[in-house]
Amino acid sequence: MLTMTQTDLAAVADKVHAGKRLDFEDGMRLYESRDIFTIGELANLVRERLHGRLAYYNVNRHINYTNYCVLRCKFCSFYKPYPKRPAESTPPPEPAALLPLIGQLTGRGGDGDGGYELSVGQVVDLAREAYERGATEVHIVGGLHPTLPFAYYLDICRGIRRACPRMHIKAFTAIEIIHFTRISRPRLSIGEVLGQLREAGLGSLPGGGAEIFDQRVHDEIYNNKVGEAGWFDVHRTAHEMGVYTNATMLYGHVESAAERVRHLIKLREHQDASLSERAACFNCCIPLSFIPEGSELADLPGPTGLTDLKTLAVSRLMLDNVAHIKAFWPIQSAKLSQVALNWGVDDIDGTVVWYDITKREAGAGNTHQELTVDKLKRLIREAGCEPVERDTLYRPVLRNGPEWSVAG
Ligand code: SF4
Repeated sequence: MLTMTQTDLAAVADKVHAGKRLDFEDGMRLYESRDIFTIGELANLVRERLHGRLAYYNVNRHINYTNYCVLRCKFCSFYKPYPKRPAESTPPPEPAALLPLIGQLTGRGGDGDGGYELSVGQVVDLAREAYERGATEVHIVGGLHPTLPFAYYLDICRGIRRACPRMHIKAFTAIEIIHFTRISRPRLSIGEVLGQLREAGLGSLPGGGAEIFDQRVHDEIYNNKVGEAGWFDVHRTAHEMGVYTNATMLYGHVESAAERVRHLIKLREHQDASLSERAACFNCCIPLSFIPEGSELADLPGPTGLTDLKTLAVSRLMLDNVAHIKAFWPIQSAKLSQVALNWGVDDIDGTVVWYDITKREAGAGNTHQELTVDKLKRLIREAGCEPVERDTLYRPVLRNGPEWSVAG
């Protein structure tokens, strides 16, 4: 095993111990090093400075309202093309029949192709069911649907706010927000869309859609999708309005290590500006491991466990101004997320329940992906950490069964 004195990372280690900001070259040294132990030790040092041995989880529910999408991002295994036939030809299933079927159902517009879209009532029923089981947060994202009007998304927020008054609605990635500016009539600006959604009950934005902030990567695998400028426009506007958001990085496809490090530095620069001159900022960064299966890039090998671990640790080290680094267990796996708690990660997300975007944990065709609170706590405790249930804004949750309150 390499020790600190043998490592090629001595200069980086000196900076981390002194609390100095790492630059691009430091990020590259970390990626080029095979000394995974020192990388973990340094990332854990920063993690412990910020959070001690606390590790966060939440009780949440993911809802993907449709997988129909007007785009065809090559890395995406989630989307289905919208069928060319009248939308009314197949009635939506009854909500009661829906709960065990999400992810496999063919809803309105579906044609046995695995495509679905949920009605407002169905989304609200799913949120209510989670709320009654004690969820503090609902996480809602979907494809860019070609015909649903902006009112549908407002009604989802209003409906959940009425049915689940205390539930935090974290919904709609930057690309969805920009889609709403395009479909609204009259056309609304990003700020107007966010304003109306907030009034309807939206609490914060997830971080999806950032992918890799690089034009070459953008042109190669998601050339019709909003790029770096659009993603930052949405998050800048949200932060100016006092709406907190998350950040992500999708790694392990066609990008290089240098492109990952530049991506992290761009997030850090945005966070510097938000912390100094805006009313909100990124709550956390979630590095997302690319899963090739089912995508147009299925011939790529995808990232290994060591790449996952290294990227989570490098994210912790580079993003010195983002409070939390999250391993999202449906993507990185529960086992690797547990290991990552000693490699810079302080949050392993939540109970999730249903997650349609990738199928790694459950296998193709089954999107039921749930970890109980007991399992989350066990993973955390076995890693030598103290589990803390948090709400979306990382406030500790005091719980008595499904009853809960936020500390402070
Ligand atoms: S990544 Fe998002 S925008 Fe791209 S095809 Fe998939 S659902 Fe559509």
